[in-house]
Amino acid sequence: MPALVLFSGGQDSTTCLAWALARYDRVETIGFAYGQRHDVELIVRKRVLDRIRAEFPDWAARLGEDQVLNLSEFGAISDTALTREAEIEMTAAGLPSTFVPGRNLVFFTYAAAIAYRRRTPVLVGGMCETDYSGYPDCRNETLQTLARALSLGLDWNVTIETPLMWIDKAGTWALAHELGGERLVDLIVEETHTCYLGNREHRHEWGYGCGTCPACELRRKGWEKWQTEKS
Ligand code: ZN
Repeated sequence: MPALVLFSGGQDSTTCLAWALARYDRVETIGFAYGQRHDVELIVRKRVLDRIRAEFPDWAARLGEDQVLNLSEFGAISDTALTREAEIEMTAAGLPSTFVPGRNLVFFTYAAAIAYRRRTPVLVGGMCETDYSGYPDCRNETLQTLARALSLGLDWNVTIETPLMWIDKAGTWALAHELGGERLVDLIVEETHTCYLGNREHRHEWGYGCGTCPACELRRKGWEKWQTEKS
């Protein structure tokens, strides 16, 4: 059974990629350039794939094509702190200004169109409802309802798998360790990128980032909790 992983180069989607490689015979990856305010993710995702190919031979044999779709028009119509220089803060709608309206709906719809053509009926994404930022398009109900809409619209059964949905960030580190040991954890720390600001200057024990944006904070807290749970 083949799968298509929405792979951004971040900690979550890299863990999901490892999860899929441990489960499916053939795994392809897709990324999106949607006018992010920095292109760090798009640079690191290639390095992550290269290192998986070099350091995990069993997975390398299953890892297929990677493609990056240009969705800059989508970025242009969304006025958010991820697509332009703006303060990261809570908005009047009660959502962080990093919320890109409809992002996961658009990504999965494009992914499903490609999956249909390439006959990969399982789509995998790193969305999480546990300690997420409140993005409504990360909710399990949103994504499972979307899977149903896509299946009806394509007249072909599409499954959306979200292995991180019910675990927290400490659990995401633990899952990476369970799947690929210290080698995978090292790769995730060194190569993946989470920081909203695209900071690659500061190296912490949990990886690179500004250390203070909400994404860095989540990643750091998860790392610290996992370290405590392990010992
Ligand atoms: Zn940061």
